[in-house]
Amino acid sequence: MSSQSESFDVAVVGGGPIGLACAWKAEERGARVVVIDAGEPGAWHVAAGMLAPTSEVDFGEHAQLQLGLESARRYEAFCDALEEPGYRRVGTLCVARDRDEAEALDRLAEFRRGLGLPVERLRPSQARRLEPALAPTVRLALDIASDHSVDPRMLVAALRRKVTHIWDAARATALKVEGDRVTGVITPEGTVLADQVVVATGVDSARLGMPDAARVPVRPVKGQVLRLRDPAGPGLVERTIRGADAYFVPRGDGRYVLGATMEERGWDVQPTAGGVYELLRDLSELVPGIFELEIEELIAGLRPATPDNLPAIGPGTLDGLVWATGHFRNGILLTPVTADLVAGVLAGESLPDWAQPANPQRFAGVTA
Ligand SMILES: Cc1cc2nc3c(=O)[nH]c(=O)nc-3n(C[C@H](O)[C@H](O)[C@H](O)COP(=O)(O)OP(=O)(O)OC[C@H]3O[C@@H](n4cnc5c(N)ncnc54)[C@H](O)[C@@H]3O)c2cc1C
Repeated sequence: MSSQSESFDVAVVGGGPIGLACAWKAEERGARVVVIDAGEPGAWHVAAGMLAPTSEVDFGEHAQLQLGLESARRYEAFCDALEEPGYRRVGTLCVARDRDEAEALDRLAEFRRGLGLPVERLRPSQARRLEPALAPTVRLALDIASDHSVDPRMLVAALRRKVTHIWDAARATALKVEGDRVTGVITPEGTVLADQVVVATGVDSARLGMPDAARVPVRPVKGQVLRLRDPAGPGLVERTIRGADAYFVPRGDGRYVLGATMEERGWDVQPTAGGVYELLRDLSELVPGIFELEIEELIAGLRPATPDNLPAIGPGTLDGLVWATGHFRNGILLTPVTADLVAGVLAGESLPDWAQPANPQRFAGVTA
């Protein structure tokens, strides 16, 4: 694609799950869309792919929950329309390894049941009947059958097949702004003109050139994961296993993702011995069999976090600017709902009431 040779209704900056899904849904509504992607793996390349609104929700996080449930509800149909997105309708067990964790888990179970969420309390023997690889020492488990998973790398590959125009290996440096209006996207190879621009660059939203007053504040939160493989094939565990400090997500084919650290270390993506030690220590107390698995990959990525941990989805303070960023720990889960909301905004609709907590206007005047 050459500079200024074509103009589009919509330019989406960032070809991760969020940008691609927004482009797909906008195209479905008849817009002529281009995705401009740096061609570098984003957080999606590292993400475990848990679709876990119920097991993620903590006290006071009603807005996250609402968005998460809206998205989880859409996931099956969303994936049905994609070829091989790696969606698994297998549930999650939240597991406590000692009495303190069991008390904390019980309090969370009470809170979640109070919200009407489907949570089943299991005694250790019941949990081990479901997942025999659990350590005999586990104290309590919650069965959350509705929290599923997807393989984010397969999801992104499937989404790419849905989008007509993708400009790969094109790192946008800045938005093109004329007066109070965004009119395109500037890259070293030239400028793409568009009536509306969606910023979906994940954590890199913080580094894209634009007027300071137009920004939403996003910061990187590092997460390390180990990708493991069982030479004996699938079956060590069937469900996602979540402890207080680590989780273990089966892909269903003998591969697993063990994650993830949460580290405030700026833009650093170097895996560390300490990170690996913590992950193996914490998870092996729940599933001792992980020590038999082979290591396929050790990798770290950056979650795009906002100050209130909610995403920024919707119109920005400049005309023609639409945000789809700041999805923090839940961007894979929130992909379908974000895409639907952004496609609606691009077509001139307002954000519905339930999505207002994600309105980027809450950051108006706050610089990154
Ligand atoms: C360790 C870890 C585990 C996680 N686990 C889960 C999980 O289990 N479930 C869940 O829901 N979420 C999870 N997440 C969060 C999830 O990965 C993110 O929220 C999600 O990937 C955000 O999607 P995105 O498309 O906005 O950004 P990204 O996935 O970061 O993709 C951004 C894309 O934009 C491109 N880009 C960046 N800058 C530019 C530029 N200037 N010009 C052009 N292109 C650009 C990049 O190349 C990339 O393709 C996890 C994240 C981490 C790090």
